[in-house]
Amino acid sequence: MTIVLGAIADDFTGATDLANNLVRGGMRCVQTIGIADAPLSPQEIEALENVDAIVVALKSRSCPAGEAVADSMAALDWLQARGARQIFFKYCSTFDSTDAGNIGPVSDALLDRLGGSRTVMVPAFPVNGRTVYQGHLFVGDRLLNDSGMQDHPLNPMRDADLVWVLSRQTPHRVGLAARPVLDRGAESVHRHLDALAEQGVRHVICDTLDEHDLEVLAEAVVDFPLVTGGSGLGQALPGQYRRRGWLADVAQPGRLEPAVGGALVLSGSCSRATLGQVAHFLRRHPGFALDPLALAETDDHLGKALAFARCHLADGGPVLVYASADPERVRAAQAALGVERAGRLVEEALGQLARILVDEGVGRLVVAGGESSGAVVSALGVRQLRIGEQIDPGVPWTQAPLPGRASPLSLALKSGNFGGEDFFTRAFEVLPMEASS
Ligand code: ADP
Repeated sequence: MTIVLGAIADDFTGATDLANNLVRGGMRCVQTIGIADAPLSPQEIEALENVDAIVVALKSRSCPAGEAVADSMAALDWLQARGARQIFFKYCSTFDSTDAGNIGPVSDALLDRLGGSRTVMVPAFPVNGRTVYQGHLFVGDRLLNDSGMQDHPLNPMRDADLVWVLSRQTPHRVGLAARPVLDRGAESVHRHLDALAEQGVRHVICDTLDEHDLEVLAEAVVDFPLVTGGSGLGQALPGQYRRRGWLADVAQPGRLEPAVGGALVLSGSCSRATLGQVAHFLRRHPGFALDPLALAETDDHLGKALAFARCHLADGGPVLVYASADPERVRAAQAALGVERAGRLVEEALGQLARILVDEGVGRLVVAGGESSGAVVSALGVRQLRIGEQIDPGVPWTQAPLPGRASPLSLALKSGNFGGEDFFTRAFEVLPMEASS
């Protein structure tokens, strides 16, 4: 079984966002967490059968450029070994990077390895308000450098002109495919890209105002060995693959196996959206509040959380264990323990609870919080996720094959601000269950 699209994403939630859009575009998709350094299990190998796209999630957005390049090359080799026709380098729709990289160096290294002479940069995600005009990136009605991104702690974006931004990250020439060219259709874009390539332009920033522009661009670049951009382009490409006959029509690309087992929510996110979701859940179902101060004092607190969850899981669940707290309580815990230790205590506790309770039969797990999800996924040894239908925009149900389990674990990983108020309850309502469960 060979895949059509192999994607390399520079962070975890960005990878999920792209994978989710590929499924919505009609592709069966698996997301991997990096490249496994130990051999895949039989369940993991089986889960890679009958997929059209694989998205490798790296942590290469803010690390040194050399490291980002090395990790991306390893991912490229792995995806090429699975026959990927096209490679997609996925970064954030706000082009998060610094003058040292990593978008330029990684794109250059991928092009060198693929033997290509040019590629496109399509960061725009119009439905989320990220558009590009005359090479300038807008977030809603603000230029990127006036959108709050100029103060980002890791990748401050102080220039909205992406041609200049990228020119500082690559020794090669950077060009522009501006709106008037897109207006004349895919053929015109194709000719423009060819003309730029003849002038020695290697990277082309593409204007994008709406979904139609994404369709035009996808049609123009479907034959490129490498494309780069945000997840918006990911939703437009599958239609082009189908037109080429590379992709069969699949009735339900996001179909997962029926879920089995108990229902648990673990929440380590303190975002406003998550606090609302916790309150909504607690009005309907039981929950246990984890307190970092108590976790620091005694093992007994974790033991109590475990006993509480077991008791309510035995009653049929769903049950919630949450460290989520309002800013005042978070500040108090951080003042007493230090920011790093408070976070680590919570993440370790969530990881331990997940490991023990999944071992005891939890089969449907929702985790709230980006870092919290990372801690739970690594405690469980999850290395790949089959992407299902989305619960709310950008957050799909997924299934992870785990060693020693007959059926995969159903997992929904929600970063902080995602999801409607009823996310925790609705997630379980929309997940199809095995008849006998
Ligand atoms: P989000 O996606 O909302 O940013 P994350 O899980 O990425 O959520 O980050 C939340 C961080 O806050 C985690 O490191 C978590 O361990 C920490 N945390 C959660 N609850 C508390 C709390 N009550 N006090 C202090 N830190 C907490």
